[in-house]
Amino acid sequence: MARPHPHLPIRPVWLRRRCGHPWPCGPARLSLLTEYRGNRIALLIYLAVLKEEATTHLTELTPTTPPADLTDRFLTWARARG
Ligand SMILES: [Zn+2]
Repeated sequence: MARPHPHLPIRPVWLRRRCGHPWPCGPARLSLLTEYRGNRIALLIYLAVLKEEATTHLTELTPTTPPADLTDRFLTWARARG
């Protein structure tokens, strides 16, 4: 649990350390899907926690323009398809 992951975001701006894109970008998503292969529920719980944390951070950073709903960015892509 404590080992560092190359796909982790920089807090509190939630950009990916390696490429500077909004986290989770494409490679970060692939990395997570690989890491959590066969355990999609755990991945969704993990992402839901991070989504709440990111929403809090981003709202604190720009109180006048709080972030839009982060559900698509954090969760929708990870849900099992049809
Ligand atoms: Zn990236």
